[in-house]
Amino acid sequence: MSTVSDVPLVDRVADLRTAVDAVRRQGGSVGLVPTMGYLHKGHQSLVIRSATDNDLTVVSIFVNPLQFAEGEDYGTYPRDLDRDMEMCAAAGAGLVFAPVTEEMYSQTPITSVTVKGLNAVLEGRVRPTHFDGVATVVAKLFSMLGPGRAYFGEKDYQQLVVIRRMAADLSLPVEVVGCPTFRESDGLALSSRNVYLSPEERPAASVLWRSLQAGRDAVAEGSRNPDEVEAVMAAVLAAEPKASPEYAAAVDAATLARPDVLGGELRLLVAARVGQARLIDNLGVDCDRL
Ligand code: AMP
Repeated sequence: MSTVSDVPLVDRVADLRTAVDAVRRQGGSVGLVPTMGYLHKGHQSLVIRSATDNDLTVVSIFVNPLQFAEGEDYGTYPRDLDRDMEMCAAAGAGLVFAPVTEEMYSQTPITSVTVKGLNAVLEGRVRPTHFDGVATVVAKLFSMLGPGRAYFGEKDYQQLVVIRRMAADLSLPVEVVGCPTFRESDGLALSSRNVYLSPEERPAASVLWRSLQAGRDAVAEGSRNPDEVEAVMAAVLAAEPKASPEYAAAVDAATLARPDVLGGELRLLVAARVGQARLIDNLGVDCDRL
């Protein structure tokens, strides 16, 4: 175990368990914030929430190869552990778990967690193996430390729905807590991948937020036709020359199914490429409280 910025850093599961068990033996509660590192204020908001709710907050930092497909940015995903340690300390983390790949996957796993259906829509259409990789690594992290609560950002809304369903289906003894998306002043959701945006591309990236707001406005003005709302969002994305839109969807917030008529709690979700960055964002709309 080494210590940077007063927060212990462990890279071995055995050391992680020793530290977490010591807290639990004293009756303390443990919260987990799983991340891929290169932390920003969005990640910190999850850590702050966990530190408020729990006696010990563990931040895991692991760029999980299982959730990247061939040709995606696994090799180039930004990494800066020293800076991450500072940010964890500032937000109130009690322990950082940053395993190496050989520790997480000492042999090639032949067991995988598949959250059927939810893994195949929206992001799953573009990234068909992604959510199996996410669910599998999160299940492993839950097994490794046994958190009472785990914190996920609404920024990756489909991921949150997948993890909630996995925890429910497998009766995992963990409360999955969803946390609001932290945004820049122009609405761009903070993301480690925003570093791929050039200064010229950066203003264009707010188009995702503008598109979501236009979708919400359409619902607020009375549209209950998903085609119509999706067309409004897609038109905003298409009007930004620096963006290549991937999808604009209006779905049921709990099931991610596309209703014939919009009603109840919805989630609007968009994805687009801006330069080298593939960006996603989403917004909740409650049709009964507009
Ligand atoms: P990542 O490191 O991108 O895998 O993200 C780790 C966790 O932080 C996930 O639960 C994300 O949803 C969450 N997260 C990422 N960006 C934000 C943001 N802008 N606001 C809130 N949570 C976020």
